[in-house]
Amino acid sequence: MDGPTPNTPSFRFWPDSAESTLNPEDLFMRIILTGAAGFLGSHLAARFLADGHEVVGVDNLITGTGENVARLQESERFTFREHDVSTPLFMAGHVDGVLHFASAASPVDYLEFPIQTLKVGSLGTHNMLGLAKAKEARFLLASTSEVYGDPDIHPQDEEYWGNVNPVGPRGVYDEAKRFAEAMTMAYHRVHGIPVRIARIFNTYGTRMRPGDGRVVSNFLIQALRGEPLSLYGDGGQTRSFCYVDDLVEGLVRLFESTYSGPVNLGNPDEFTVRDLAEIVLEMTGSESEIEFRPLPEDDPKIRRPEIRLARELLGWEPKIGLRDGLEQVIPYFREQVEGKDARARPLA
Ligand code: UDP
Repeated sequence: MDGPTPNTPSFRFWPDSAESTLNPEDLFMRIILTGAAGFLGSHLAARFLADGHEVVGVDNLITGTGENVARLQESERFTFREHDVSTPLFMAGHVDGVLHFASAASPVDYLEFPIQTLKVGSLGTHNMLGLAKAKEARFLLASTSEVYGDPDIHPQDEEYWGNVNPVGPRGVYDEAKRFAEAMTMAYHRVHGIPVRIARIFNTYGTRMRPGDGRVVSNFLIQALRGEPLSLYGDGGQTRSFCYVDDLVEGLVRLFESTYSGPVNLGNPDEFTVRDLAEIVLEMTGSESEIEFRPLPEDDPKIRRPEIRLARELLGWEPKIGLRDGLEQVIPYFREQVEGKDARARPLA
């Protein structure tokens, strides 16, 4: 058979023609980070600040929180611009990197904001690529495992083109991110700007909104409140859950690399959603029951990242297993439930 076999990542993807724009003499960068008020954006911003860089956070706060912004504002190297990046953003001064993390990312959110999700992935990506081009900055796109849709190969490697329903309810997110990847590669090929594409798989951790609606936050909050766990379908569908600290390390390494093609970042340990429900019940000591609900349309039946490329290129792999990660995050959700009466947000 000609060409690469599945699960054998080739290195045919676009090495940088423009090599590094990051001057190794310049220890500290000025970074524009869209989605800085969100879950991943705020963790990534905190990491860049801790490493000594300057971060301009941009967010329109439709799914991000003022609380995340306030925490980042404790650093004098952080500034915040409340702005919807679906419209152009002008910025004075020198910029080393533009990282585009703005988007609804929970299915519950992108069902509530379908047009905004399409706009931030398409117009927002175009605007941020334009900014990166104008500033001669490196660009990183937060893409997603959703580009693989409901996959018919397993695990999913970067060579797989995906199985996405463009007109289904998830299409607004999946197609926006697929367009965003295409636009990113076009800017790389046409304008030679250095680009990075992170295909991010399911990630959880502190600072997730309690009402985010994704499975880890829903189950933990429901278990801690003694409410039934909302299990969609028969729970036989699988996901692979990455702890946020591992993901942030992968993102930083990818940003600093010289590789322009998409790279999967996620934890390859795969669990059924039913397994997750049982682990959550056991670890929280909850007596909650499991309540079976209909499986949402186009919900992927299996998902696990092939991370060989990230291992080889970045020397990266996750270090925190699901139980260790849950142990770290349970106190955060307990605080949300006990101190703030936080509620889960299952699909209606
Ligand atoms: N899920 C569930 N109960 C919930 C939320 C999600 O059973 O309250 C299931 C959902 O159907 C999917 C998996 O958990 O199969 C992961 O869903 P999530 O919304 O976290 O993210 P996705 O991976 O679908 O983007």
